[in-house]
Amino acid sequence: MSDRVTGNIARQWIRDDIRELSAYHVPEPGKMIKLDAMENPYLWPDEMKLEWLSLLSDIPVNRYPDPSAAKLTARLEHVMNVPHDMSSILGNGSDELIQIICMALSKPDSVVMAPEPTFVMYQMIARFTNMKYQGIPLDSHFQLDMTAMAEAIETHQPAVIFLAYPNNPTGNLFSPQDIKKIIEMAPGLVVVDEAYHAFAGHSFMPMLAEYDNLVVMRTVSKMGLAGLRLGILSGRSEWISEFDKVRLPYNINVLTQFSAEFALEHDDVLQRQTDQICADREILKAAMAELKGIIQYPSAANFILFKVDNMNSETIFTALKDSGVLIKRFADTSGPLANCLRVTIGSPEENIVFIKNLGKILS
Ligand code: PMP
Repeated sequence: MSDRVTGNIARQWIRDDIRELSAYHVPEPGKMIKLDAMENPYLWPDEMKLEWLSLLSDIPVNRYPDPSAAKLTARLEHVMNVPHDMSSILGNGSDELIQIICMALSKPDSVVMAPEPTFVMYQMIARFTNMKYQGIPLDSHFQLDMTAMAEAIETHQPAVIFLAYPNNPTGNLFSPQDIKKIIEMAPGLVVVDEAYHAFAGHSFMPMLAEYDNLVVMRTVSKMGLAGLRLGILSGRSEWISEFDKVRLPYNINVLTQFSAEFALEHDDVLQRQTDQICADREILKAAMAELKGIIQYPSAANFILFKVDNMNSETIFTALKDSGVLIKRFADTSGPLANCLRVTIGSPEENIVFIKNLGKILS
């Protein structure tokens, strides 16, 4: 029978390494309390929502958006404290910026490096763009293993190193001195991914002028705007203008451009929400410390990584899910994330339900 009839033609043409992958899986939350994806739990005050809605009706959806999103870029650069002599491009989420970076740097045999465990998209996108990926294990405190990093940099000469600061899923900030050493050792680009900057305060943005191989990435996703899909990459124009050539025209749609500008004009509202999340993180850490058997890791982000002594993470995950609370469980059973779970900081009410239900499961 011909391939046209059996449907085998895709198997013949799709790259083998793509066929081996599974699609990125996002669990369906239904009516559950959703504490699995590092989202901000808050919507906007009614007054702000109504103002936004009335302004939205004038948006020309029949026209293409501003291809460079100039107004929004300027606003974001201001809010994110991008130094005046640096340039920026925007992405459809910082995921797209990682893809743009890899597309621009991909040459036969070029290497993407990242400490592990970290954000999985660095590895995924390295594969999509035909780059080689080298993950270098973090030490037992989830800090950078500088001996291993130095050796790996020397051996593999990475085109790009991604450092999430704070790191996902561990939640901690790497030592800034170690990051500086890595920037100095790296032969190629270093991307400091500050997706969780809003909850951490620390930043490499002021260091951009000091290093010609550093760029800094941020997202609005964790500031309460995950649905808009918007990230920003800032650095010297030598890098940014090249990345801009790979960016698809109109990658930031009109509704996102308008809505993000509107939201950032009300950044006091977003800031209040972030402050609330930071305060609730400390409350949740203290409440989790009261529960017997919980080992939690230090967090400067809007989530907490933890595990429970003598109890399988699968059991806890499923029992929480059955009680109506969705958190994140890690599939790897032997690596440093073995038996780990990650909970996102929700609203105070959501956190109380989580901690009560977890307490019941552990008792
Ligand atoms: N970087 C890190 C470290 C992340 O954890 C995430 C999302 N979880 C992203 C980037 C992607 O963020 P977004 O595409 O929503 O901007």
